[in-house]
Amino acid sequence: MSKNDRLFAPRAIPWEKLYVKGVYVEGTERYRVVVKEDASASTHCSVVLPLEYGNIYTVTFPEKTDRLRAAVVDRDPGKMAPGETAVYKIGDKLRNAYYEAEPDRWEGILFTAEKEGQFLVLYLSDRDCIPVSIERYPLLIGRDTDDNWFRAGKQPDLKGNKKSYADWQWTSDQVIEHLYEPLRAEFPDYISRRDIGRDESGKYTMWAYTFEPKHYEQTLFITGGIHASEMDGYLGLARFMDLMVHEDGSHKGMHYLRTKVRIILIPIVNVFSASEEHLRYNSRGKDLNRDFEFHMEGETINVIWLLHQYKDEVAALIDCHTCKGFQYDLYYNYSVQASNSVLCARVTNHIYEDLKKRGLASVPTSMAHMPGAYEKPDKYLQGYAWNRLGIPTLVIEHMNEHYAEKHSALGLELSVEYYGNFIIETALAKLKLKK
Ligand SMILES: [Zn+2]
Repeated sequence: MSKNDRLFAPRAIPWEKLYVKGVYVEGTERYRVVVKEDASASTHCSVVLPLEYGNIYTVTFPEKTDRLRAAVVDRDPGKMAPGETAVYKIGDKLRNAYYEAEPDRWEGILFTAEKEGQFLVLYLSDRDCIPVSIERYPLLIGRDTDDNWFRAGKQPDLKGNKKSYADWQWTSDQVIEHLYEPLRAEFPDYISRRDIGRDESGKYTMWAYTFEPKHYEQTLFITGGIHASEMDGYLGLARFMDLMVHEDGSHKGMHYLRTKVRIILIPIVNVFSASEEHLRYNSRGKDLNRDFEFHMEGETINVIWLLHQYKDEVAALIDCHTCKGFQYDLYYNYSVQASNSVLCARVTNHIYEDLKKRGLASVPTSMAHMPGAYEKPDKYLQGYAWNRLGIPTLVIEHMNEHYAEKHSALGLELSVEYYGNFIIETALAKLKLKK
């Protein structure tokens, strides 16, 4: 762990002191907080947590519970008179989401107040006060003052026309030839590449690029296209690298990346499927991002081989994906293995706020992000990197089809900004500087 990790660590909130007798949450869709008549004799008991505006809270349970009722209200239920009620409206007042991690692990909820003076009320059971675990992530959601936001500006599309940036149907070799090799030819002292091995079928070469400024102070490891069906993702990543390589010094974060950060990048991991069917799986029908624990596939072995060479220097590993959407109305989501999740939550929040400004965020109040200890087992690249090598990892899932047409210019603009700002902010956090 780097010394900076402390900055990002969530704060545990002791829940025992937060129980208030007599407070009850009732209702199904819309919860009402009710204070029962005889509080001291009441068997009803809730956790009442004053929310600090701008923070994110995660609440998790020792075991799955279907008894949970949660509400956020504008007044302190501890000070309400018996018989009084406070109504929690599902609306603009808060963002919340149930979220599940791996099946049969744990379940939790995220909360954040959208204004001062709100209280979270958790009612867990009619009988006993069930212990919960509450953590607070100290960030300023909704008070974004990030003046270092990177804007991609209007982008070309990925439809293979004359003015397009790329053709989504390109093979992995074509992506390398048309998008990465011209950069290397232009900046031979800065960019190099190496053959890191063949894919499992033996048909295609996997390439890794190194972007190495003369006086770099840290190293990031970035992967794209581990799922080859996510073309708009690995092409968006390529476009961002293009813009970063050609930055003109006007953007602090881009300039820092260009001059102070060594980037080890595998543009496409699943080269077989990127070249043939554009499927999630490799030539043997395997999901490479489930293969890291036992690493049976050639592609996975190549990534691990490369990662091990830099394992002591890599400040963070960023794995770029796209997704079609989950059961939640998340625009983007990510999972973070390390405790740098506050950084990620902040960036995601900014993206979400930005989408609202653009009129693209159709769901005003749902969680736009999932911070925190969303731990992955070793079979995932991020799990492998964090659990076995101690490298903070970040998986960024650009929901490319949710707000833009497939392969469109807007889609590319959003993916470039999405990946780009995560990469910039991760670098600026300086998780690990070169010794
Ligand atoms: Zn994916």
